[in-house]
Amino acid sequence: MSTFHLLTLGWAALAVITLPVLLKVRAPYGRHTTAGWGPTMANRWGWFWMELPALLLFPLLVVLGPRDKGPLTWVLVALWAGHYANRTLIFPFRLRTRGKRMPVAIVLSGVFFNLVNGGLNGWWLGHLAPPDRALPDVPAVAGLLLFLTGMGINHHADEKLIALRTNGDGYKVPRGGLFERISCPNHFGEIMEWAGFALAAWSLPALSFALWTFANLAPRARNHHAWYRERFPDYPRGRKAVIPFLW
Ligand code: NDP
Repeated sequence: MSTFHLLTLGWAALAVITLPVLLKVRAPYGRHTTAGWGPTMANRWGWFWMELPALLLFPLLVVLGPRDKGPLTWVLVALWAGHYANRTLIFPFRLRTRGKRMPVAIVLSGVFFNLVNGGLNGWWLGHLAPPDRALPDVPAVAGLLLFLTGMGINHHADEKLIALRTNGDGYKVPRGGLFERISCPNHFGEIMEWAGFALAAWSLPALSFALWTFANLAPRARNHHAWYRERFPDYPRGRKAVIPFLW
């Protein structure tokens, strides 16, 4: 087994260990921000700097790498770039959380995550992957549909949550659509996106990214769900955290 595969397996194993830790320790940003995590910075710039390495590194490694690239590779680059252009350049500047801050430690851990994740996925597609499968092919089409559906759900839910803060006021119970089934459709949509990407890419680095997304976001959604229940006594009882009807 190559060093690259060993590194990627180790990275995926770390995701599996991280999941139970994040169920216990609420990652201290957004509603779970608490004192004691060191210096802080403006949250929108935190998001920008945290996500910028992902936006740049993966496409650069793929484009500059010597591997022959077919249409599937360019589809994957387009999905990645579309997602991270929103997360880096649009989403942070649409937030209505005026004056809110996040710990620099969270930003640095996000930068580290995006360098490793973007590095592994970009190096694979730019240097190491076998020739692209011919299109159309079943995993690519299914993965593309899953990614685009997840992206639609994620955007729609993020927009709805951002719109809940009309005048920079506090938190409200979100209502309507998937929010009637789960507390965090934005996290559910993002988990779908990277599961779809892994299906289309059919590679170990992409699978490790899907695992990491689940390991980060399923606990975050569980923590949000518990927080809603603590704060709103009339919070809808049938609502799950992140997977409709299940969890
Ligand atoms: P949240 O749902 O916690 O917050 C999104 C925005 O909506 C924030 O501005 C938040 O304010 C506001 N908001 C949320 N709920 C309410 C409410 N009930 N009432 C009023 N305002 C509300 O999302 P995250 O911060 O966890 O994540 C943001 C995006 O980043 C998501 O799309 C997520 O999928 C993605 N993400 C992806 C990760 C990955 O591993 N791929 C990791 C982390 C995030 P406030 O900040 O004040 O709480």
